[in-house]
Amino acid sequence: MNDDEKDQEIAYFSMEIALESSFPIYSGGLGILAGDTLRSAADMGLPMIAITLTYDAGYFYQQIGSNGEQIEKEMEWDFSNDFKKIDQQVTLELQDKLIKVESWSYEVIGRNGHKITVLLLDTDLNENEPWQRNLTHMLYDANPFQRIAQEMILGICGYRMLEKLGYDNIKTYHLNEGHAAFLIFELLKKYKNLEEVKRHCVFTTHTPVKAGLEEFDYNLVNDVFRNRIPDQIHEFGGKNKLNMTILALNASGYINAVSKKHSEISKKMFPNYEINHITNGIHVGYWLSPYMRDFLNEELTRDWHHNIKLFENALNLDSYELWRVHNKAKRNLIEYENSHSWILFDKNLLTIGFCRRIAEYKRPLLIFNDLERLAKIIKKKAQLIFAGKAHPADLQSKDYIRKIHEYSDYLWNSYGIGLIFLENYEISLAKSLVSGVDLWLNNPRRYLEASGTSGMKASINGVLNFSTLDGWWIEGYFMSDKKAGWAIGPEPSDPKAQIADDSIDVEDMYNKLESEIIPLFYHSRDEWQERMKYAIRLGAYFNTNRMMEEYALKSYNLIKQRIWKSKID
Ligand SMILES: *Cc1c(COP(=O)(O)O)cnc(C)c1O
Repeated sequence: MNDDEKDQEIAYFSMEIALESSFPIYSGGLGILAGDTLRSAADMGLPMIAITLTYDAGYFYQQIGSNGEQIEKEMEWDFSNDFKKIDQQVTLELQDKLIKVESWSYEVIGRNGHKITVLLLDTDLNENEPWQRNLTHMLYDANPFQRIAQEMILGICGYRMLEKLGYDNIKTYHLNEGHAAFLIFELLKKYKNLEEVKRHCVFTTHTPVKAGLEEFDYNLVNDVFRNRIPDQIHEFGGKNKLNMTILALNASGYINAVSKKHSEISKKMFPNYEINHITNGIHVGYWLSPYMRDFLNEELTRDWHHNIKLFENALNLDSYELWRVHNKAKRNLIEYENSHSWILFDKNLLTIGFCRRIAEYKRPLLIFNDLERLAKIIKKKAQLIFAGKAHPADLQSKDYIRKIHEYSDYLWNSYGIGLIFLENYEISLAKSLVSGVDLWLNNPRRYLEASGTSGMKASINGVLNFSTLDGWWIEGYFMSDKKAGWAIGPEPSDPKAQIADDSIDVEDMYNKLESEIIPLFYHSRDEWQERMKYAIRLGAYFNTNRMMEEYALKSYNLIKQRIWKSKID
């Protein structure tokens, strides 16, 4: 690294960043968003550097046993081929020990060659004791000690590493979720008071779900920090527990949620803070299938890579070619499916995908609520693909996977209906799923899905969404005049939307499948294809270039500083 590359102004901190599909250092939406953020920041030439951890055992590799049980395989990932070692160390005081932390680097390279450096922190050094070397072993270890230590490494050592390497022009620290909030302890030392720290911190909150809002017992905090904790921590970090979200909220001058609805919900949860919204996006070039990319290069011209607003022209796409391109992606997916299961899929059937982290609030079993009714609706008409990892400590979600496996046997043996759970959902599988199915199903419990991004990936590939009106889909559904897909259950203005009653949603799901979606797919192909174009058009808005433009303007204040001016013109 030469010195002018150290002139970066924004430091982006994230517990997970999905840099490449073969790097197992992400678990789901948060990490993928972080990866797409950096890909767009690089394309746009933003003066940014990113900090995360590298995990030699990754998250985990998922296998499904013969009874549907999730088997978690530790990865053995040698990242020394993928990352460059930096010859500098910082230390972390943990309990009464000093732990050495080193860093690796990786470069995200934009379309015009602009590079964004990612620093990946690591404690697996000979000089450290075995338990210390183990601290950066696995992402999202359920053990609170391991967890707090990792977050100290991210926030504290991340800051120290930037200082050590000479990044002395950082003006904005962007905390992508609360995990990095210990960074604030270091900033307090530098800036002396919270008001001054606030001028330098941007905080993005990503979930209203309790498991995502991390807190630590003060006993644990005091044990690991000893006397190195700021005075008055109880005032700005949470009274009874140290809450990473509260800490980040109190120390950030700009706070945002990740969709309009999510900002409403967040304001209710945290009424004393000004919470803005910047709706999430995806990196369009990264998530288009190769077939669709070639097709759009022809039809929209290659300029769309620089000006994604050209997706506004999607309604002019040629229907015949669009259908052909979609079916190439579909055939690919079905060949993959058929080579991984004895349940054989049919490329002519409406294919529905439900693929995401398995978690209670996402209601993965909702569609199976009345198996016989479902079977009657989809027999000889539709087939279903599921995929997703359950967190190793989440026994309930592992049980969902077991049940889906059971339903799969039952539906095939009794009705010849194809339902399969594909193993190890990750980026490359996700790419083939979001482009290869016809319909993308998503039915979270209302207002718990902060944004969701997989539906955006499906949409730009011409796959229609069938989703509860939550997160991004409230915006996407109305923006497309209800053409890019369907809603499950009531609209936000309907008082019924406030009632958490699964049966309302199930009933609506079955009715729409039976009387709208399936008939449209088989008997009004022209209209289906028209709707696909509306779906693709949403890419003009739901992309990370637009999203990063908003961050740059609203939260990084790059315009005021005239750094990013040329890119805006
Ligand atoms: C996009 C993506 C996610 C996040 O999708 P959601 O819609 O937010 O659930 C998770 N995992 C993978 C592999 C993805 O590609």
